[in-house]
Amino acid sequence: MKIRSFRLKLILSYVFVILVSFGFVGIFLDKNLEKNSLRNIETSLINQAKLIENQIFPESIRKEDAPYLEKLARVSSLKTKCRITIIDTRGKVLADSEKSQEDMENHLNRPEVQAALKGGIGSDTRYSSTLKIDMLYVALPLKDKNTTIGVLRLALTLEGVQKTLLAIRKTVLLGLLFALGFAFVLGSVLASRATRPINKMIQVSRKFSEGDFSRRIIQSSQDEIGELAVTLNKMAQDIENKIKEIENQSQKLAAIFNSMIEGVIVIDKSGRIISMNPTIEKIFGVSKGDVEGAVFLEAIRNNDIAEVIDAVLKKGNSLSVEITLIYPIRKIFEVSAVPIFDSGAIAGCLVAIHDITEIRKLETVRKDFVANVSHELKTPLTSIKGFVETLLEGALDDKENNRNFLKIIQEHAERLNSLVEDLLSLSHLESKEVALDKKNFNLRQQLEGIISGFKSQLKKKNIEIKNELPSGISVSADRGRIEQVFTNLIDNATKFNKENGAIRVYAEELNGKIKVFVEDSGIGIPEKDIPRIFERFYRVDKARSRELGGTGLGLSIVKHIVELHGGMVGVESIEGFGSKFWFILPRA
Ligand code: ADP
Repeated sequence: MKIRSFRLKLILSYVFVILVSFGFVGIFLDKNLEKNSLRNIETSLINQAKLIENQIFPESIRKEDAPYLEKLARVSSLKTKCRITIIDTRGKVLADSEKSQEDMENHLNRPEVQAALKGGIGSDTRYSSTLKIDMLYVALPLKDKNTTIGVLRLALTLEGVQKTLLAIRKTVLLGLLFALGFAFVLGSVLASRATRPINKMIQVSRKFSEGDFSRRIIQSSQDEIGELAVTLNKMAQDIENKIKEIENQSQKLAAIFNSMIEGVIVIDKSGRIISMNPTIEKIFGVSKGDVEGAVFLEAIRNNDIAEVIDAVLKKGNSLSVEITLIYPIRKIFEVSAVPIFDSGAIAGCLVAIHDITEIRKLETVRKDFVANVSHELKTPLTSIKGFVETLLEGALDDKENNRNFLKIIQEHAERLNSLVEDLLSLSHLESKEVALDKKNFNLRQQLEGIISGFKSQLKKKNIEIKNELPSGISVSADRGRIEQVFTNLIDNATKFNKENGAIRVYAEELNGKIKVFVEDSGIGIPEKDIPRIFERFYRVDKARSRELGGTGLGLSIVKHIVELHGGMVGVESIEGFGSKFWFILPRA
């Protein structure tokens, strides 16, 4: 049986110590007492034997004077309370104080008799079959002039000794019982005192194991237990600090994980999803709670990514591929997967999904832009080259046409010039280093001046323009740049207007901002072109625009300028009925 209670173990230890101590004392005492008592009795028997020996005449032995010897034995027995036996050298009992000599068997083989016959003092302790009791025998040789003629044997019952020993044993046993009882009670008290701080430590340690490190063990003593309490408290403090540190770190990591623009998925070695961030939920339209623990391909049906994961989990190499997602929206992603190792073995992989749609779009825009610029520059340059060649090849002398050719060359050169100018101002605006020279000025007055510059152009098509901007409206903006905005919009409104058309410029107030409209009754813009109309070089009708001297950059410049002012641009248009361009600027 295993004793589980430390307290009980302590109590039993006390009891055991008492038991062992008492056992040793008892056995030692018992043996010594018995030995000493026997030795004392033996000595006194020898002394008494010596006294009796003197009273025995050797003659009576030789003659085997039984009556005399028997009388002597009986008298001496009465005095000494011992049994007295006189034996001759052949072992024959000559006299005995208790029994008649005829009834006695031969005593030659008795050890004490043998010892006495050899001339020494013999003694023996044994059970007397005659008297049915333990007896101590002492035997002396009876001598006649140095010749052993018989043996005098004294025997004493050990009843008294045994009674004394029994009494002592009882007392020792009683003492032992008392000591055990006392040890048990005292042991219980001492053990409770010793185990109380340990029990408290167990209680608090249990709280530690449940994750509650706020408790501390009170150090009740300066001994080893006290030291253990201090150590446990320190350990709890250290663990608490470590846990806080880990919590902080994991909170930081979770914050990073959750706010990452890149989608991140953690996969285990069996291809199941362990974790994912909100970006992934957004990209694939799944919920973390639903797909965690599921096999990747079952949760997110994308074969390309599943293949990447598979390859990384099998080979343990990092992999990066570009994939195009068609559904729910067309997007381009760069998928990078790296293996996660645990003690040298592949434990899973981490997949980062980066939306590169915008980057790819910008790359396309840049490529298109370069192609557009080259094309736009090439057209007038080819024409100029062609006409110059024609002139050089003899047309210079053709009086009717040479001026016309030169005019065409001039037109194309002007086109080139305005194209370069527009490109320069666009690149300047896009460089984001433009410093706006903001000032408060009156919009209506500015527009008046701009309109007067368009007079001849407007007159050509008989277009009526109305400045309906409120006279009190002032804006805080870069005057020169806003002039460019108006010029481009009115230029377009004129260019793409019909004969006898109209242009209206008016404004609306909009929570501290002003929304300016440039409305025309021109050809309008097809609905499908409206979203792209502010793109560089985007034109509804390229040939017509070119014919009208357009570069396709005007609206793009307008958009940039307005956005630099923190505003917005837009257009509403119905094909065949006219357009309404607007821009918003902050009020002064
Ligand atoms: P462009 O130099 O060709 O005028 P813009 O960037 O100013 O370049 O305009 C781009 C295109 O938008 C034009 O080619 C034309 O097709 C269309 N557009 C601009 N303004 C108007 C307007 N008021 N009415 C109709 N179409 C317009």
